[in-house]
Amino acid sequence: MALDPHQIVGEELLPILKKVEAGERLSREDGILLCTTPNLTAVGYMANIVRERKHGGKTYFVRNQHINYTNICNKFCKFCSFYAKKGGPAPYQMTLEEVKHRLEWHRDVALTEIHMVGGINPRLPYSYYLDLVRTVKEARPGVHVKAFTAVEIVEIARQGKVTVDQCLADLIEAGLDSLPGGGIEILSDRVHAELFGKKLNGEEWKMVARAAAKLGLKQYATMLYGHIETDEERVDHLIQLRELQDETGHFLTMTPLSFHPEATELSDLAGPTGDDDLRNIAVCRLMLDNFDHIKSFWIMNTVPITQMSLWYGADDADGLVHEYEITYKSGEFGNKSQSLTYENMVRMIEEAGRIPVERDSLYREITPEELNATIRPKLSPLPMATA
Ligand code: SF4
Repeated sequence: MALDPHQIVGEELLPILKKVEAGERLSREDGILLCTTPNLTAVGYMANIVRERKHGGKTYFVRNQHINYTNICNKFCKFCSFYAKKGGPAPYQMTLEEVKHRLEWHRDVALTEIHMVGGINPRLPYSYYLDLVRTVKEARPGVHVKAFTAVEIVEIARQGKVTVDQCLADLIEAGLDSLPGGGIEILSDRVHAELFGKKLNGEEWKMVARAAAKLGLKQYATMLYGHIETDEERVDHLIQLRELQDETGHFLTMTPLSFHPEATELSDLAGPTGDDDLRNIAVCRLMLDNFDHIKSFWIMNTVPITQMSLWYGADDADGLVHEYEITYKSGEFGNKSQSLTYENMVRMIEEAGRIPVERDSLYREITPEELNATIRPKLSPLPMATA
């Protein structure tokens, strides 16, 4: 006997279910209730309604490589385990030759996206960033370059003594295709002051987002959760993103990022639980009615949680991800093998009962012919998932 949806969500969440079924926007109070109700199953159930309405059973993924070009940083964010410090990771700064070499490591692997972010290293000149983007485009013609968080953009512009608009225009001319989001963590003055006061604030972050939208640059959005933020601050963050998306329409995806306290100044915190991870995926899906995609970043969420998240609102499992270094635990910085093979990505999605669909960075579905023709024309054809 099929269960009555109203029984699944119960009395308390019934008004929200009715809004979800009618496609109505949820309020701040709805968002806070979704964050606090013990009935996580109901939250996931409602998020799945929206997910399946938008995408059916499809789950998108991309073939990407991450390049973190320097870990030298003068911002000292308390939640960060990536930047070089005494007793932590040793400092490094990649030359353009080293970046080229990194790209060469994967020359026999099909990639459609290079994702580049790094620390705020005041020794790097403006020209370095332009050359960095050009180097990637020359080494892997046809890839989509997704690079630089808003804090990097502000600092690169400062380094070049140009406006943010001019800096973005120069980077676009060099080959930049989109901004990865990030750089603000939570749009809250309180959290900003306590955890990352040296970085740009919420208004500056929005200024960069608006400048990017004006130039036609697509952007991704994130929320770092599971540190000192409150449920209200999480919901306020989402509502601010929703308002910005109403205004600009340039955000492609929302990725809630699960905080890893190990090797950070907040290592005494417990960090998010599986409940937190699934709930944040689901709350993002329900609150961000004007975002097409919600991503579960498997490196932070783990593969098992990502599989479950595909029934809690997520329709994107990120990518094959070569060499991600941002959340490495203490003592593990030498290991750069955080990647899934194509076959494992497909299996992860299929095991979860969803349909794997390979996409490019702008969510166009990629055919084997397109991939083989544009990305690795001299190499043998690739196996592809069927949607
Ligand atoms: Fe630097 Fe970014 Fe880490 Fe902050 S989060 S310390 S800006 S690398």
